[in-house]
Amino acid sequence: MKFYNYSAGPSALFPEVVEQIKHELGNWQNTHSSVFEISHRGPEFMKFAKEMENTFRELLQVPDDYAVLFLQGGGRGAFDAVPLNLPLKHKRALYLTSGHWSRQPALEAQKYLEVKTAELVDKNFQQTKIDWTEESKDCDYVHFTSNETVEGIENFNPPKVAPGVLVVADMSSDILSRPINVNDYDVIYAGAQKNIGCSGVTVYVVRKSLLGHASKICPAILNWETYHNSDSLFNTPATFSWYTCGLTFKYLKDTFKDLANLEQVNIKKASKLYAYLDSEDFYQNKVPQNLRSRMNISFNTPNEELDAKFVQEAKEAGLYYLKGHKVIGGLRASTYNAIPEEAVDQLISFMKVFADKYK
Ligand code: PMP
Repeated sequence: MKFYNYSAGPSALFPEVVEQIKHELGNWQNTHSSVFEISHRGPEFMKFAKEMENTFRELLQVPDDYAVLFLQGGGRGAFDAVPLNLPLKHKRALYLTSGHWSRQPALEAQKYLEVKTAELVDKNFQQTKIDWTEESKDCDYVHFTSNETVEGIENFNPPKVAPGVLVVADMSSDILSRPINVNDYDVIYAGAQKNIGCSGVTVYVVRKSLLGHASKICPAILNWETYHNSDSLFNTPATFSWYTCGLTFKYLKDTFKDLANLEQVNIKKASKLYAYLDSEDFYQNKVPQNLRSRMNISFNTPNEELDAKFVQEAKEAGLYYLKGHKVIGGLRASTYNAIPEEAVDQLISFMKVFADKYK
């Protein structure tokens, strides 16, 4: 039996990456030590770190006038880092909400500035609009979450904002799953533990002209300029997590060449699962076509009891971690980059058997 891990995060790494980690454990690059047992300032690690940044830049096509930074603190750390680092003239920001993870940064930002919120996706899972010029006029920035990990809603396009207003995106759960135009954003951030590597690293892509405006209460470990000036080695980084990120970036480049190719694989996987969900009344998915996430596919059986049975029986069939997030319940299959098409096929086969058994 084959085992697949559909965890929403931390989530599966590519098996080839895990094999390489196993192989190199204990003697990384002839250091006779594991990668997490040596100095982050030694020549081997510094070289690895530079290559990691360069490969990430290449994959996401990051222009030279953007800094790529690796911090700690996760996505939640970024909820503070954004208002603490950005220049604030109006001391006001617009947070567009579309689910659980876009509401959290709006709550946190209230510590630092006036927060306006507006629904990007309403309670009936309909996108309200993409042009926020009027509402953002008196704001310093507009924040949105490109992929709602809990509900399975993907906001593929950045919002249109008033001139001079910055666009900030939390891409924690869909970064590197498709090409984007970095120039459409001023700040992008993402926790590593879904599409990138192990938890412990948060990647920031920041327009360089925005560095140097941090509030004086901004802690040094969240200060983007400090990290930019130290090649992200201001304090001791989570070296093992960096290592997993570097290996994943290299694997993505060597295997898929670019994100356009990888996107095709992700479209194929998600389309298969949605097509099956649409064809079987036993399962429900409420997200409309244009907002369906390719990374987190949330669905329900007819009732909670069957949802629980589904999780249990799926596990017996080798399909792990399909329980939905506690805030909405139900079921969720996370189909990040490292999940192969065969895993989706095996899930659909199981879903067919389960539906026939209980409907
Ligand atoms: N943003 C999104 C979209 C997320 O899915 C998560 C975590 N699942 C977070 C932020 C918070 O990340 P962290 O746990 O790294 O703070």
